Amino acid sequence: MSIKKAEPYKIKMVEPIKLIPKEERERKIQEVGYNQFALRAEDIYIDLLTDSGTGAMSDWQWAGLMLGDESYAGSRNYYHLEKSVQDIIGYQYFVPTHQGRGAENVLFPILIEEKGQYVLSNMHFDTTKAHVELKGGRAVNFVTKEAFDTEKEHSFKGNFDLEELQDFIEEKGVKNCAFIIITVTCNSVGGQPVSMENIRGVKKIADQYGLKVVFDAARFAENAYFIKKREVGYESKEITEIIREMFSYGDALTMSAKKDGIVNMGGMIAVKEDEELYTKVRSMVVPIEGFPTYGGLSGRDMEALARGLREVVEEDYLESRIGQIEYLGQRLVEAGIPIQRPVGGHAVFVDCKKFCPQIPYHQFPAQAVCVELYKEAGVRAVEIGSFLLGRDPETGKQLESPMELLRLTIPRRVYTYNHMDVVADALIEIWRRRETLKGFKFTYEPEVLRHFTAKLKPVGE
Ligand SMILES: *Cc1c(COP(=O)(O)O)cnc(C)c1O
Repeated sequence: MSIKKAEPYKIKMVEPIKLIPKEERERKIQEVGYNQFALRAEDIYIDLLTDSGTGAMSDWQWAGLMLGDESYAGSRNYYHLEKSVQDIIGYQYFVPTHQGRGAENVLFPILIEEKGQYVLSNMHFDTTKAHVELKGGRAVNFVTKEAFDTEKEHSFKGNFDLEELQDFIEEKGVKNCAFIIITVTCNSVGGQPVSMENIRGVKKIADQYGLKVVFDAARFAENAYFIKKREVGYESKEITEIIREMFSYGDALTMSAKKDGIVNMGGMIAVKEDEELYTKVRSMVVPIEGFPTYGGLSGRDMEALARGLREVVEEDYLESRIGQIEYLGQRLVEAGIPIQRPVGGHAVFVDCKKFCPQIPYHQFPAQAVCVELYKEAGVRAVEIGSFLLGRDPETGKQLESPMELLRLTIPRRVYTYNHMDVVADALIEIWRRRETLKGFKFTYEPEVLRHFTAKLKPVGE
């Protein structure tokens, strides 16, 4: 395995991490009911729970914090952020929000005009779906079938099935459709990108029926990087050029800045040019998030975001970011471990249905690997499978997830190739003794959002 380039940063400030002894790890994970959400972060060596808000800011961003202008109205940092949005995204209007879901909460009620209207997406993110439903809408997904075949190599598994999208609009009638959301990259199928051709196709259908296109733009720069690397005709384009073309096919966006904004907290709504829509957003944002020139963020946070947006589009950064994830994926593939391919933009997904086929879905195979990984090396990952999915609300029966995945989510600019090796070595070690892994059952199961607070114990104990 040759590493062509090291991470494009040097470390000026460090945050020590510690691998506590194995007996302690075993005790701690047992104490929290084998639920890694309940662990204390300081008991974790390498934390791959999420890439959301966990990135490392640059010295330039930290310096920006000192220049925070905390004026209630008209903060200078708001104008810096506006300039970044206009330069990079190419949209004229924007309002900051405290995070992505804040943006959804403000924008969606404006766009869903009648109860029961459908909102059409490649795949709604959890909070996006929740906000659509809270506003009386119905969230429907049209992601390409290829997305569900983990072994099938496909450059753009985040794509819409355009035919299905169009058929649906025809069948239900455009009056019953509110708008289209393009999630870039498509988080819920593994950070898989959407091609420019597909985005253009969505736009064409939207125009044909007079529907608005909204981007869920959390990982917009990662999506642009994949387009550059994988789509014919984009090899020699600048990342910013690709981003601007991508967003030119939309009317508005919501963004969780905790991802490609490379800040720990923040979000926004941006509107391309529709002044009427912007006016509505601006008046709605006041009672929900805050005055339009701060919208739930302090001045210093807006400055950090204004700078983060400029850094995330740098190609050597994106190359290293995606490269780390590819490297981890490659090491697992070489050891024969089944992962979703190709790897996405922010995480490696281990296919645990294949990793430990002896554990049935209702005993949560991916959770079993997750627990083992913490015990083995102090690494925290997250289960995306039947444990997360939960029960049928009507029958109370445990639902079977189509995939049992262990997500290894890589924070931005936080870890190095050495950390990736620790994770890979640990998983390879577990892979060697995979037949010995056992499933889990509940000792405490809350009715809502059980993934976060449930307690488990190994089957047979
Ligand atoms: C994280 C995320 C959101 C929600 O953003 P928060 O900042 O966590 O509120 C919405 N959509 C996608 C695709 C995301 O990844």
